[in-house]
Amino acid sequence: MSPDSLQASARSVAGYDPDHLPVPLAQQLVRDAITPITDTETLPLKQALGRILAADLVSPIAVPSHDNSAMDGYALRGSDLSASPVTLKLVGKAFAGHPYRNDVQPGECVRIMTGAVIPRGCDSVIPHELVIDASDTAVTIPPDSIRAGDNRRLAGEDLPAGSIALPNGRLLTPSDIGMVASLGIGEITVMRKLRVAFFSTGDELRSVGQPLDEGCVYDSNRYTLHGMLLRAGCEPIDMGVVRDDPASLEAALRDACRQADAIITTGGVSAGDADFTREMMARLGDVLFWKIAMRPGRPMAFGRIAVDGKQAMLFGLPGNPVAVMASFYFFARDALALMAGGAPQRLLTMRLPCEEAIRKKPGRTEFQRGIVSVDASGKPTVRITGAQGSGILSSMSEANGMIVLHHEHGDLPAGSLVDVIPFDGLI
Ligand code: AMP
Ligand code: MG
Repeated sequence: MSPDSLQASARSVAGYDPDHLPVPLAQQLVRDAITPITDTETLPLKQALGRILAADLVSPIAVPSHDNSAMDGYALRGSDLSASPVTLKLVGKAFAGHPYRNDVQPGECVRIMTGAVIPRGCDSVIPHELVIDASDTAVTIPPDSIRAGDNRRLAGEDLPAGSIALPNGRLLTPSDIGMVASLGIGEITVMRKLRVAFFSTGDELRSVGQPLDEGCVYDSNRYTLHGMLLRAGCEPIDMGVVRDDPASLEAALRDACRQADAIITTGGVSAGDADFTREMMARLGDVLFWKIAMRPGRPMAFGRIAVDGKQAMLFGLPGNPVAVMASFYFFARDALALMAGGAPQRLLTMRLPCEEAIRKKPGRTEFQRGIVSVDASGKPTVRITGAQGSGILSSMSEANGMIVLHHEHGDLPAGSLVDVIPFDGLI
């Protein structure tokens, strides 16, 4: 892509206003600018958890490989079932891993356990608790107890041979890892991890371990970002704190660009600061400066820079700790996943009634920190955490989900349904 294509393509989008950019439009512009990496690596199966599958995984075998029993009971021929009680001759046993190897003739049955291969000739299983009487040699079956074909798991019903077991771009979960194992595959090819360099900017920032001079604050953003990047499956490269001066910032960006696929900075993109960074970044590449219609997290720089022919995406996030998290989750996270070769993911969103009225200005998207709980009748509801200031990181720790109040909405009365994105799921 040519170095000025981002500027040009953004300007050609209907409704593009860099000083009041609606969240969905900004998200779209970010997505459109992403080029996925192509490098892959092959890993032992257990190490592939949380990684992105690099190609469709085709099943070499059927799962299950044989028709097998869903119950403990007796395998029989459906044609022997009748409208009156019927007594079948018991000719043998089929246990999981120990099949019955002969053909079963009309009038015969086989003792069978769950998971055992259905013997040749049989097509049905009657659970043992349904039989009228069973001895070592015969079993009596009541009328209308089962239908032909019952309690039989068919070969290939989980996965037919040759079918796509997992699609390219899939983020591998524990069940996926188990499924790959069920195909007898022990190694898997995934995308390499995305390398993401990050640093904090601000003369007032001190790192953990340093004395806190008057008027200074400890840098928390690098720690938050490190955690968010790990959770997003990236390889974080921590580049420390950078002073608010153009030369230091440029040196840090050049260094980051050489090492990483993407760079995330925090601080220094709000109105006053942006002027010198804007000029310097324009020299390094193609960076847009936005005021996004959102709260928290209005200012953001986005683009790509290049050093010695090597490119990196750049996310210049605001400095306020909650704004960093909101802009990471709603802009960077999705972009990084796409860049890493992942399929587009939709975040699980629930619509829940809010316990109290919520104040909201129309014309911007608000990401409020919410606490989902279950009321006395078992229905989930959500309330906002106390303080919603963009510097109040404890509001994120207190919350268990993000309430998304959309661009056009105004104040919401108690009981209104709001969109909530839970922080944690079962897997
Ligand atoms: P800025 O966007 O640089 O104007 O920063 C906005 C606010 O966020 C200021 O109060 C900063 O002190 C604070 N801030 C910026 N970076 C960090 C950081 N890395 N850790 C904690 N607070 C920060
Ligand atoms: Mg600053």
